[in-house]
Amino acid sequence: MRFDIDKININSSLKYRLMFIAGGIIHACYIGLFVWLRICPLVAVNIISVLLYITGSFMSVSKKTGLMHYGWMVAFYIEIIVHTLLCMLLIGVDTNFYLYALAIMPVAVYVLFLSCSMKVFLRSVAAMTIADIATMFAGFYIEKNTSALPYYPITYDETEMFRMFNVVCAGIILLMFSFLFALEIHALLRRLEESNRQLEYTATHDALTGLLNRRSLRPLAEEIIATGEHFCVALGDIDDFKHVNDTYGHDAGDTALKTVAECIRAGVADGDIACRWGGEEMLLVLRGSDEECLERLRAIWKSIADEEMQHDEGEFNVTITFGFVSCTKTRHIEKLVSAADKRLYVGKTSGKNVIISE
Ligand code: GH3
Ligand code: MG
Ligand code: MG
Repeated sequence: MRFDIDKININSSLKYRLMFIAGGIIHACYIGLFVWLRICPLVAVNIISVLLYITGSFMSVSKKTGLMHYGWMVAFYIEIIVHTLLCMLLIGVDTNFYLYALAIMPVAVYVLFLSCSMKVFLRSVAAMTIADIATMFAGFYIEKNTSALPYYPITYDETEMFRMFNVVCAGIILLMFSFLFALEIHALLRRLEESNRQLEYTATHDALTGLLNRRSLRPLAEEIIATGEHFCVALGDIDDFKHVNDTYGHDAGDTALKTVAECIRAGVADGDIACRWGGEEMLLVLRGSDEECLERLRAIWKSIADEEMQHDEGEFNVTITFGFVSCTKTRHIEKLVSAADKRLYVGKTSGKNVIISE
C-alpha cells in the first residue's frame, strides 16, 4: 500500500492526540526513571500525568471540539508547567526540564491558532508566555537560593542523563510538530490550488454545456491570432429552438443544448475554440486552411442533425445554421464574429440548416 501524504487529514483532533500520545510516552519513561531513582513524589506526579494524557487522547477525538479542545490545551499546559517546576525544585534546574516549558510554546501556538478565535488565541499565547517566563525564573531563583533544594539531589551522571533525555525529547516534539505544520501547509496549498482550478473553470466555462463561455473567447482567440496561423470563425444558431422548448419542454431543450455541445466538442480539433456564445448560439474558432476548417464544420453540422435528442416520450432532431468566415481579409476577432453573424442571418433567411461560407 502506497503512503499518500495528501490523504492525511490534519485536523485539531489529530494534533491533540499526537500531543497527548507524545506526552504520555515521555511521562511513562519518567515513571521508570523516577522509580529507579526512588523519587516517590515524581513517580506519583508522572502516574497522574500519564492518566491525564490517556484520558486526553481519547477525549480529543470527540466530535465536540472547540471549547473542549481548548480546555485540554490548558490542562496540558498547566501539567507541563507544574511538572517542570517540581522537577527543577526536586532534582535540580541543571536537568533541563524547563526545555518542555519552552517546547510547548510553539506547539501551543500551532495547535491553538486555527482552533479558537484570534482574541482567545492572542490572550492565551500572552498568558502562556508570562507563565513560562515566570516558571523558569521562579525555578532557577528558588532552587539556587534555597539551601534545602534540590530536595532529591542526584549524581552528576544522573543529571547528565536527564539533560540528554530532555534535550532529545523536547527536540523530537518540536520536530514532530514542525513536520505536522509543514504537512498541513502542504494540504492547505493543495486545497487552495484545487479551489482556484474550480473557480477558474467556473469563470471560463458555461455551466449547462461545459463549453467555454463568451468571456473566454477574446484571450484564447488572441493566442491563436498571435501564432500567425490561418484560422476561421463559425457562428452557429440552433434552428427553431423556441419551437423545441414549446413542444418538448424546457428540460428537453436543455438536454438538446448539451447534446449539441457534445457534437461540437467531439468534432473540433485540439487547439480550436468552442464556446457558447449566448442562448442557443455557439461560436467556433477553427485552426487550419479554409478547406480543413469547412470540412470539420460540415462534420459537426451533420452530426448535430443526425443525433437523436431525448425527451420524456421519445426522440427528436434539431438542426443548426452556421455563418462561416475565414481570416484572409481581417484577423480582428470582433470583425470576424460580426461577419460570421451576417452570414448566419443569410442562412436563417434562406431556409436554415445550412452553412453559409461565402
Ligand atoms: P431561429 O431558427 O430563427 O434561430 O429560431 P429560434 O426559435 O431558435 O430563435 P429564437 O431566438 O426565437 O428562440 C431561441 C430560444 O432558445 C428561446 C429561448 O427560450 C431558448 N433558449 C435560450 N437559452 C436556452 C437554454 O439555456 N435552455 C433552453 N431550454 N432554451 C434556451
Ligand atoms: Mg438565436
Ligand atoms: Mg435559433
